[in-house]
Amino acid sequence: MIHITQHGPVRGFRLARTLLGRGRYYTGCFFVDGLMIDAGCAFTVGELTAALAETPVHTVVNTHHHEDHVGANLAFQAKGAAVLASEPASAIISGAARRAPLMAYQRVLWGWPEKSAAQPLGEWVETDHHRFQVIPTPGHSPDHVCFYEPSEGWLFCGDAYVGGKDRGVRLGTDIRGVIASLKKMAALDISLIFTGSASVVTDPAKALAEKIDYLEYKGKMVREYHRRGFNVRQIRKMVFGPEQMIYYVTQGNFSGDHLVMSYLEGEAGE
Ligand SMILES: [Zn+2]
Repeated sequence: MIHITQHGPVRGFRLARTLLGRGRYYTGCFFVDGLMIDAGCAFTVGELTAALAETPVHTVVNTHHHEDHVGANLAFQAKGAAVLASEPASAIISGAARRAPLMAYQRVLWGWPEKSAAQPLGEWVETDHHRFQVIPTPGHSPDHVCFYEPSEGWLFCGDAYVGGKDRGVRLGTDIRGVIASLKKMAALDISLIFTGSASVVTDPAKALAEKIDYLEYKGKMVREYHRRGFNVRQIRKMVFGPEQMIYYVTQGNFSGDHLVMSYLEGEAGE
């Protein structure tokens, strides 16, 4: 399933595998001035490349190595595009470093991405009309970067900013890294955020401030209950409530317990 949107010169693609007649767990990517920012999942390669059949793609950049962001890398590379990602991400995407095995839900929703000849990014990515600064934003994954176009105020943020009030995270998320990266993003002069789920945030300063406040407030609660001797499960119930549907869909990989544990990483008596 593919939905295409246009935001000035930026074209957005909202992509998902179609299961039982509807798209499930959308992922987003964007095209501007010959540059693809992320590339959907393995199941949406055909739809995405068909949508860009008449449009030359010179370069693909990936915000991080996750399987729902690198799917069409090889297809664009086969048509002449260079593929770039942060150094640790490019190692996984190219196959030089091992990709962690996908869990069942990841294989069903997004599939295994094909390897592509990803090269490490420099500090800037240049197109004919734009310059994008590469901003390291670890947290969602250690290899995550955002792409910032200062003269337009665009930030392509991948999964570094996700809308809504988080009640869980995927295993491996470093929530304190997420918050530090959000603060780094909030210090930029941004007019639009293009997110990894294909939504476009038109009030970035407010959205980022609210997100940082929410995550810091929840962190304070988690640490306070931890100090009083409650265990992870008890803290999760009090701070984030019951596990959500996504916990069951992901067989526990995405959970409130992981969010609590991430807040407590490194604390004594964890
Ligand atoms: Zn991700």
